[in-house]
Amino acid sequence: MKINIGIIGCGYVGLVTAACFAERGYKVLGVDSDAGKIKTLLSGHLPIYEPGLAELVKRNQSRKRLVFSTDIGQAVRFADVIFIAVGTPLGDNGGADLSQVKRVAREVAKNLSSRYKIIAEKSTVPVGTAEQLKTTIRKYAPARAEFDVISNPEFLQEGRAIKTTLYPDRIVVGLETKRAEGVMRKLYASFKAPILITDLESAELIKHAANSFLAMKISYINAIAQICEKSGADVRKVAYGIGLDKRIGREFLRAGIGYGGFCLPKDVSAFVHIAEKLGCKFDLLKAVQSINRDQRQHFIRKIEKACGSVKHKKIAVLGLSFKPDTDDIRESPAFDIIRGLIRKGAIVAAYDPKAINNMKKILPAGKVHYVGNSYQAASGADCLAIITEWDEFKNLDLKRIKRIMKTPLVVDGRNMFDPQMMEKQGFNYLGIGFK
Ligand code: NAD
Repeated sequence: MKINIGIIGCGYVGLVTAACFAERGYKVLGVDSDAGKIKTLLSGHLPIYEPGLAELVKRNQSRKRLVFSTDIGQAVRFADVIFIAVGTPLGDNGGADLSQVKRVAREVAKNLSSRYKIIAEKSTVPVGTAEQLKTTIRKYAPARAEFDVISNPEFLQEGRAIKTTLYPDRIVVGLETKRAEGVMRKLYASFKAPILITDLESAELIKHAANSFLAMKISYINAIAQICEKSGADVRKVAYGIGLDKRIGREFLRAGIGYGGFCLPKDVSAFVHIAEKLGCKFDLLKAVQSINRDQRQHFIRKIEKACGSVKHKKIAVLGLSFKPDTDDIRESPAFDIIRGLIRKGAIVAAYDPKAINNMKKILPAGKVHYVGNSYQAASGADCLAIITEWDEFKNLDLKRIKRIMKTPLVVDGRNMFDPQMMEKQGFNYLGIGFK
């Protein structure tokens, strides 16, 4: 059997997933309700920035393996496996807002037929959602409809999304029938990654538990960083020293201004909410959130202390995306930091290689002076604040930066530079977690 794929939601996850399945030789139909996004894709452009994605999409469009539409019905009729990859943003109560997922489930249901289909949750959802989707789909589908609902959480990393989709550490599939297992094993056979088959609930929980654990590692090292600053220790050495223990591991132990992005903040919050709903206390995660919030304020305090006051001072902000190699600014620390600085009277000039247009939508030009490169930002600045560790910033002409700044102060939220080298160049250089 040839497996055709439908992807509902062509955002950061859906579009990458669609392109990667097409690259593996499948025929894929990607659907999005945002007609503008589909128009952009049909005209050969991308609505988001992700390294390598434009080439992958283009190649598979021209091979006719990847097509796009706004019509969910078309995808349901075409596909054997229908992935739901729409947003699950933070709801008002701190839990996940499942309205997009539920709407899609109803639409999918109405278009089902007696031809067997798998409906796969790819969006990150609270444990128990697949069970709810089964009920919803059964309610709206014709009586003869044959389907399985499965959970196939996504672990891709923006900025490295293609690699982490084509070569993931693991593929998790929660399901209930041998029939669905056969299809999913076949679908992923060429991905050369371990496939973990579980029940629906465990697969759903793995995603929230994994993201919360990663957030915990970041907050842990950031709490240590604050202790290092007060005690004279160096968090980079401490992180290296603890990370060499294989039980701990070296990944995700970089002190900085904390985590952001569409996933970790909302997923930690949703997991706290899920635990509470189930009657389980998870205060550990509340501490993770509180440390993360404070880390942004800590960065602002550091700038303020170094500048005396930031009132009427020009602060050059380098980096707006929540991490390098993406234009995604959702929950980026840059937002809180820039807003905090402006509230204190600072004049902010900001530059990012890819994320300026997205940031302008939530922090309009006028409040922030967006500029075309790092040097324009640094010119006449009292402080250079590094928010995102883009490679481009690693290669800055530091002599030129020093020459054009009013005061050679660099406050580095990502510990990108060697402090001794920076001091040698004549900068007053402050990082996170060392003196
Ligand atoms: P996104 O906002 O970039 O994309 C969601 C897309 O769904 C949008 O293009 C939107 O227009 C579309 N959509 C919404 N309602 C629709 C509907 N009724 N019909 C068709 N399309 C619809 O979000 P994302 O970053 O791709 O995340 C999607 C899901 O994947 C979320 O649950 C997220 O938590 C999870 N996830 C994200 C990442 C990541 O790095 N971004 C990684 C792993 C998991």
